Amino acid sequence: VTWRCPDRRLEQVGLRLERLLATTDRRACLDVDPVQFPRRYTDPHDIEIAAVVASSLAYGRVAAFRPVLERWFALMDATGGPRAYVERFGPQDHAALAPLVYRWNRGADFVRWMATLQRVIQRRGSLAVVFPTAPTMGETLRCGIAALRDSAGAEPMSRGFRYLIPSPDDGSACKRWNLALRWLVRPEDGVDLGIWNHLAASRLIMPVDTHVGRIARMIGLTRRADDSWKTAEEITANLRRLDPEDPIRFDFALSHLGISGDCRSVYLSGVCEPCALRDVCVVAGNHASGASSIDSSTERQ
Ligand code: SF4
Repeated sequence: VTWRCPDRRLEQVGLRLERLLATTDRRACLDVDPVQFPRRYTDPHDIEIAAVVASSLAYGRVAAFRPVLERWFALMDATGGPRAYVERFGPQDHAALAPLVYRWNRGADFVRWMATLQRVIQRRGSLAVVFPTAPTMGETLRCGIAALRDSAGAEPMSRGFRYLIPSPDDGSACKRWNLALRWLVRPEDGVDLGIWNHLAASRLIMPVDTHVGRIARMIGLTRRADDSWKTAEEITANLRRLDPEDPIRFDFALSHLGISGDCRSVYLSGVCEPCALRDVCVVAGNHASGASSIDSSTERQ
């Protein structure tokens, strides 16, 4: 990569992100990343449903939501894979989904979610077509969410069901939707799958959760304090200045720095000294200039 960013500080951030990406152990990270679920399939019809289902539960600890997804995907595979499962989904499948619970999502939410995807598939043929090309990814997402909510039926949405289909209009960063779009749109690179070729990787929005938001603040990609849609847009705008064609290609490495639990937003010598982002991180910078720190000999007690 040839770095030509007129903002010298941002250029330094780009160089360190490049290093972080190069030193991230992809194989080890994939073992604890929900993209492993869509990566089990080769048929694009299976992949898009697997991506939407897996990303919809990708909040909280991986160790907590992965067993739920494993049980759900076992049901799908027993019926011929995600697409066949959604196409044939009916009352005979409700009892098996009913016991599944993840935080505020209940089995009834999952039943409704499957029925919703089924209606979209019956009406439109695939999930891809309800996420059309648009001037911005926000517009693409709004169209997709509107189509899904239209297909959900008229009855009031439970909190858990609504949580499965957030919208930028609610102020949400829509991390899980942006994550699914990253998987489906970015070119195949051993992590992302690149099957939705009608959308451009250059328009993707960073999937911002607590981890990505706080690390982005520490390295100066945003000054915003919340993890909202506006913050996701601001982080993406800065990354787009580094790579206009593929601004969110650092997401996998950044998110796994957070998921690993090592980076805790305080200076820990054993973690921060070898960190690829150390030279552009305000926490490490404050430590170097004499601010307080936690010695690595006490950090894990
Ligand atoms: S230097 Fe330390 S606090 Fe900063 S991003 Fe790296 S691990 Fe996190």
